[in-house]
Amino acid sequence: MKIQYLGTAAAEGIPAMFCTCELCRKTARAGSAEARCRSSVLINDQILIDLTPDIYYQKMRWNLDLSQLEAVFVTHSHTDHFDGAELTRRSAADYCKPAWERPLLVYGNRKVCGFGRRSLREEFGMEENPSIVFHELVPYETVKLCGLTVTAIPAQHDPQEDCLIYLIEDENSRFLYGNDTGLLLEETYTHLGNKPFDLISLDCTFGARKAREGRHMGFSENWEFLQELQKHGCYSKSTKVYATHFSHNCGMLQQELEQEGSKYGIHAAYDGLICII
Ligand SMILES: [Zn+2]
Ligand SMILES: [Zn+2]
Ligand SMILES: [Zn+2]
Repeated sequence: MKIQYLGTAAAEGIPAMFCTCELCRKTARAGSAEARCRSSVLINDQILIDLTPDIYYQKMRWNLDLSQLEAVFVTHSHTDHFDGAELTRRSAADYCKPAWERPLLVYGNRKVCGFGRRSLREEFGMEENPSIVFHELVPYETVKLCGLTVTAIPAQHDPQEDCLIYLIEDENSRFLYGNDTGLLLEETYTHLGNKPFDLISLDCTFGARKAREGRHMGFSENWEFLQELQKHGCYSKSTKVYATHFSHNCGMLQQELEQEGSKYGIHAAYDGLICII
C-alpha cells in the first residue's frame, strides 16, 4: 500500500493565513520545506482521505493525476477536511473532460453527504450529478474497493456529527488514519482487529503541549493511544507511527517535532511524505 501525505496541518495551515506568531514567521521564511497544507492522504493514487481546500495546490505541488481517483473518504464535515465547492469541479457536466466511465464515490457521514449535495445544488441547481455519488457511512461500516477494505471507526471529536477515522487494509498490510480525534472509547479499540498495524497516523494538533477537551491530541496523548492499541494487540515494535494535523500553536518546526516525537517512538509526518507498507 502506498500512502502519500498531501497535507499535515490543522485547520489554519502552517503558516496560518492571517497569523504573525513566531512559528508562522519562521515557516514563511523557510518556504515550502516547512509549509503544511490542511491534512489529507492519498492511497495507491486512487483513494483520497479528506478533500481539503488545498486540493488544487496539492495537485500542482505533487503533480497528482486526480483523474485516477476512484473514491474520497471524508472524516467529518469541518471545513479543513471537506470542501464541497472543490468537489463540484469533478462534474463532467461543465468542468472537466471525463476520462472515466464511473462516477467518483464520496463516502462520509450524513452531515458530509448533506454538505456535498448542497454544494452541487448551489453550483448546478440540483443535488444529483452523474459524476459524483454520495454514500452515507455509519460507524463500523466496511467498504471494499480498489483491492482495499476500508472500515469507518468512530472518532472522539465533535458530538454534533459521527466523526470518523479510517482503518484501511489490503492482503498484506494494515493502516490506521487517526485524525481528527482524541483518545477513543474503550469499546472502540476492541473493533480494530487484534493484529498489529503496519502504519498508524495520529492527530497531533497540540504537539508537545497537553491536549484540551479530548477532541484532539498531542504527543503524550498519542502515546496513551498507542498503549491502548498495544493492549488490544494492534501495536507492536514493528509498527511505524507518524503524527500529523499539527497546529501552528505547537510552535515547532519539522526537526523539533521529530525530536519531540522520538521520545515516544513517533515520527513527525510532513507534506509530500510517502510511506510504502
Ligand atoms: Zn481538522
Ligand atoms: Zn501562527
Ligand atoms: Zn475537525
